[in-house]
Amino acid sequence: MNNEKFATVINCIDGRVQDPVKDWIIDSFGVEFVDVITEPGDDKILSSGSKEKIEEIKQKVEVSIQAHSSKAVVVVGHFDCAGNIAVKEEHITEIKKGMEIVRSWNLGAQVVGLWVDENWEAGSVE
Ligand SMILES: [Zn+2]
Repeated sequence: MNNEKFATVINCIDGRVQDPVKDWIIDSFGVEFVDVITEPGDDKILSSGSKEKIEEIKQKVEVSIQAHSSKAVVVVGHFDCAGNIAVKEEHITEIKKGMEIVRSWNLGAQVVGLWVDENWEAGSVE
């Protein structure tokens, strides 16, 4: 029903990161639309949240994958996060752990990490 026009993001609720994250994903993957799942401090929840909470996020991601055949799932962490007060290095570690968790779901989509810095610029996490 579509030709890989979608990507999916697991993002924070923070209003400051929504546009930079969406723009980066559209530019990087050539998609038209980004399905959005938000949690305060999503990187912390994915890396150390309860099984129930992580399962909840997984189910939301699966709706996006199944309905829209998303080609990528992006895990975001960002500067000055109210839901995850931590230094950048901790965020990066959590984003990487989050990517491992999402990869373990075997969604058939590329899994990518993204860090949004103090200038509200997004960059991929290697
Ligand atoms: Zn945040």
